[in-house]
Amino acid sequence: MSSVDDRRDVREGYRNGGATRSLNDSLEGEIQAFLIDEDQLYTYDDLTKVNPVTPATVLKCLQVRYSMKVFYTHAGCTLVALNPFQPIPDLYSLDVMKEYHYAHQPQEFKPHIFIVAEEAYRNVRGQLEPVNQSLVVSGESGAGKTWTSRCLMKYYATVASVSVVKSQDTVERIERRVLDSNPVMEAFGNACTLRNNNSSRFGKYIQLQLDRCQLLVGASVQTYLLEKTRVACQPANERNFHIFYQMMKGATDEQRKEWKMSHDQSFVWLPNSEKTIEEDCFHETVEAIVHLGINAERQGEIFRILAGILQLGNVSFSSSADESQPCHLDAKSKDFLQRAAELLCVPAEELQTCLRVRTLKAGKQSVLKPCSQAECSVRRDCLAKVIYAQLFEWLVTFINNSICADKSTWCNFIGVLDVYGFECFQTNNLEQLCINYANEKLQQHFVAHYLRAQQEEYVSEGLQWSFVKYQDNQSCLDLLEGSPISVFSLLNEESRLNRASDAKTFRVRLEKELCDNANISWDKFSKVPHFTVAHYAGKVGYQIEGMAEKNKDPVPPELISLLQKSNNQLLHQIFKDNETESQIKKGPGKTTVVSKFKNSLETLMKILHFTTPHYTRCIKPNPECKPLTFKKEEVIIQLEACGIVETIHISAAGFPIRIPFQSFLQRYALIAKHIKLGGHSVVLDLEADTCPQRHVEKILSVALKHRCLSEEHSTLVHCGRTKVFLTQVMLDLLEDQRKKI
Ligand code: ATP
Ligand code: MG
Repeated sequence: MSSVDDRRDVREGYRNGGATRSLNDSLEGEIQAFLIDEDQLYTYDDLTKVNPVTPATVLKCLQVRYSMKVFYTHAGCTLVALNPFQPIPDLYSLDVMKEYHYAHQPQEFKPHIFIVAEEAYRNVRGQLEPVNQSLVVSGESGAGKTWTSRCLMKYYATVASVSVVKSQDTVERIERRVLDSNPVMEAFGNACTLRNNNSSRFGKYIQLQLDRCQLLVGASVQTYLLEKTRVACQPANERNFHIFYQMMKGATDEQRKEWKMSHDQSFVWLPNSEKTIEEDCFHETVEAIVHLGINAERQGEIFRILAGILQLGNVSFSSSADESQPCHLDAKSKDFLQRAAELLCVPAEELQTCLRVRTLKAGKQSVLKPCSQAECSVRRDCLAKVIYAQLFEWLVTFINNSICADKSTWCNFIGVLDVYGFECFQTNNLEQLCINYANEKLQQHFVAHYLRAQQEEYVSEGLQWSFVKYQDNQSCLDLLEGSPISVFSLLNEESRLNRASDAKTFRVRLEKELCDNANISWDKFSKVPHFTVAHYAGKVGYQIEGMAEKNKDPVPPELISLLQKSNNQLLHQIFKDNETESQIKKGPGKTTVVSKFKNSLETLMKILHFTTPHYTRCIKPNPECKPLTFKKEEVIIQLEACGIVETIHISAAGFPIRIPFQSFLQRYALIAKHIKLGGHSVVLDLEADTCPQRHVEKILSVALKHRCLSEEHSTLVHCGRTKVFLTQVMLDLLEDQRKKI
């Protein structure tokens, strides 16, 4: 296996600013030299069986399987899912779901996302006691996270509903609603980007709530960091959120009139409207909205707000010759502003003033100051962003109220986490910093849960174990969020100072305070002030300019007051008791973007910590999203970035099942008492011996002998100091014998 540093070099060679990637020569050579018969490689359902396990051999195995249209492969405790980029008939059909659900041992079936789903479902019941489960789906943009999450939700909505405890009617309604939350959240939170036509622009953790009979009785959703800037500013060749295009394309003539959008109307904030994508399906979104219980009146309010945002985007300002006078609006812009005001149900005059004039507080007195042309545009964008973000939040709350079961009716949950993958663009800003920080946290959880915990436990239990080197990302997390000084603390301080942000000064500050951390570096000759962070998945350069301002995320109070006056009931309600307002009162820097994001992630990590996690790593086999096209150089970076090779190493030689002695004795003591060896019953007097470890060893030895296996079968089972470590094979063997009693 390559060392950590080797792997970093390989990655850096590929990642090259997220643009071109070429396969390193030595790795290509290693692949050529890998002489296993390709026919055989196809049969490796688990990458832990590939020998030797190297990035090259793992890559080859996946490539061969992909060419044979096999998209799922185990990697020990992780499932690797390769995106086929085309619908695969019958891969997710009802019959397939049933096959996995009713299987005696689903693990013996072909690798599939339904194995993960079923394993989690059975785990909830728990061998010993019920345990909540988390399904963590990760991967880069377009890898298939949302698709996978949807598959998981459909699986549970199907298999967890067949029982008859509740009236069929109730059961159907709740499942339908849970599934309907997907198209609604995707319409409002997804957009067509260069990487994915249906890219999620927010993170999502959905908890599927199960009752005592393991029926799906409800769900709750938590969302993270919606990319609200997209409402007012779409990157080149990308689009705004789907819902706007859906409205444009799917509205009836009557609706068009109401929303003041004619057929030939063009909107600045709706670029690339001509592009036809599958997600432009207004009818389906409305149907799902109806099922969720949003009444016609509310729907009307929602769409009028969205139409108002579009009109606002067409308002432009030209600077006034006299600086003491507000910016000028031409006739067309005045018209758009008038329409925006009507749709948002706010007084047009006041809207105009709010966008063009700032109120400065000097003691008890207020001074009015005309805004520059650029400031006017910032205020316009800010208004659109704050409305959209709050509307999205309202929608999520509504969905939760509609699908969340009463606490008394559910006792366990299966959580599905679909968060944005690691991002590295030509220019990276606060959004990428937050997203990559989230990925660092998840990687740490993964490392802690599977790698470190597994190895440390073996050592503490006295098992013979050779350590596998793994990349610990604690120092990167210390750099980003550590105390007392970190990138986040310095950024918050910069935002709090509320001075005209100076990127150069901030860069110098970072350099001075954080020079001891090896994960941060600077290119002194770069013209644009930036800092580079060595993430576990590669190096990313972050632009400093504008970062502190973005972190403050300021909303002029005049805009909030205006929205509070709206006659649109929904808008009025959203801003009536608004968090943004209390944030303004607390002062800048108190609730910054990074502080809020860090808090919500901490809550998530706590939840994950108390659940049994299952990891699915989605892989995007080519950047063009072409069907059945496997580009080695793309795949290897992703495998490296998520530590698949280390995972395989540990899982292959490991004992994934561990049971404390007492629980083991409770469940399996009978085996030893009832087993006959050579025609004679073996009688174990467990009471006579008070050492639980010896009891366990006796049971194991009897069970192994019964199967004519050597007592020293250390590849199947190990007895530690307080618990037994088993492979799946050994567990099956014990369970079989137990059932025969
Ligand atoms: P982002 O981070 O941008 O949200 P993502 O990882 O959620 O990306 P998806 O939207 O789930 O990516 O997948 C991208 C596209 O790939 C889907 O729209 C679909 O066309 C295709 N796809 C993904 N998984 C599968 C699959 N198992 N079978 C067929 N097509 C798939
Ligand atoms: Mg997605």
